[in-house]
Amino acid sequence: MRAVRFDRFGGPLEVALVPEPECPDDGAVVRVEATGVCRSDWHAWQGHDPDVTLPHVPGHEMAGTVLQVGTDVRRWRPGDRVTVPFVQACGTCGTCRAGEHQVCPAQTQPGFTHDGTFAEKVALHHADVNLVALPEAMTAVTAAALGCRFATAYRALMAHGRVLAGEWVVVHGCGGLGLSLVMIAAAGGANVLAIDVSPAALTAARDAGATQVLDATGMTPEVVGTHVADLTDGGGHVSVDACGSAATAV
Ligand SMILES: [Zn+2]
Ligand SMILES: [Zn+2]
Repeated sequence: MRAVRFDRFGGPLEVALVPEPECPDDGAVVRVEATGVCRSDWHAWQGHDPDVTLPHVPGHEMAGTVLQVGTDVRRWRPGDRVTVPFVQACGTCGTCRAGEHQVCPAQTQPGFTHDGTFAEKVALHHADVNLVALPEAMTAVTAAALGCRFATAYRALMAHGRVLAGEWVVVHGCGGLGLSLVMIAAAGGANVLAIDVSPAALTAARDAGATQVLDATGMTPEVVGTHVADLTDGGGHVSVDACGSAATAV
């Protein structure tokens, strides 16, 4: 099959003919119909993740149709349309039993622990635990955008932040993850203050449900803090760094 592959970290990405993925006994082989491109793919390509071995097929945000399932799989069969979260959990360890699949120590991730979704087909492990059925009306392109940023944002806000309707959520950084946070917080009935330095990102945040937006261009962290207190009537109940800089994380 064809796949996008690199042979050395930071080296060229080339479309190559690669072996078909083998179907794990507990997993599935899925025909990839849409795949996202994520900053995490850049980290894999740069060699920042010790799980990645060469040569490597990147990609972890996908939706597609099941082609084959392993002998231990009960819930899925060929023809099912599915997506997966970024982290594919084992489903049986103590962490998974506590409901924390996102940090399962035995996790697999296509595009990191094995070949990924920049390919015609991909192998996915622990299919009964991780595959998610797609509604008929949802396109593969839409579904491919959900498993990484939406799963990350949902767990941060709802499982750990325990956001309640009427509370203020402050989102620092309105890229893919930040806009997912805005949408989930707004859907949960929270008020959202979205902060970015890009007017286009702030417009997108408003469209996604932000109650207030703040253009922090040129502001010191202290000045941003003053504006946050003013705009949220005293400060956010939950504040999320979706930017990844020291200034927004503390
Ligand atoms: Zn991603
Ligand atoms: Zn686990």
